[in-house]
Amino acid sequence: MTDASFPDFRVGIGFDSHGLVEGRRLILGGVDVPHSHGLLGHSDGDAVVHAIMDALLGAANLGDKGVHFPSSDPQYKDISSLILLGKVTDLLRAGSWRISNVDATILAQNPRLGPYLPDMQRHIGSALSLEPGRVSIKVTTSDYLGFIGREEGIAACAIAAVLQTS
Ligand SMILES: [Zn+2]
Repeated sequence: MTDASFPDFRVGIGFDSHGLVEGRRLILGGVDVPHSHGLLGHSDGDAVVHAIMDALLGAANLGDKGVHFPSSDPQYKDISSLILLGKVTDLLRAGSWRISNVDATILAQNPRLGPYLPDMQRHIGSALSLEPGRVSIKVTTSDYLGFIGREEGIAACAIAAVLQTS
């Protein structure tokens, strides 16, 4: 039973990780971060954008990013994940979902990402057609524990809130 007087406000969660390898650019939040290693992936390996994509798709109950952008599809090879995030935004818009906010945390031991967070916010906000104030990007380390602490990879988690407007 649906109740039109009750706002259809939903949240979604996303998580992603990629391995760090030599010979790849490190792209996070659409920012090219100077570093000796980059994230390995079929696309540009932008873990924080991928986590946000899954949070948004989950909030709208649209499956996960692998359903919409399979890594077996050559058209997504080395693609900027910001383009994929724009496509996710289009999918939500088509379903009359309005994005309220997104919040993400990047887990990385190295390099220090703090100086790049405002640019990440700006890029992600632009892909989502959302003012940067509704995009929160944070960073933490794993205190040298696990694959993140050993600098073998970088992970990110995200949450998104959306509202049905139709
Ligand atoms: Zn990913």
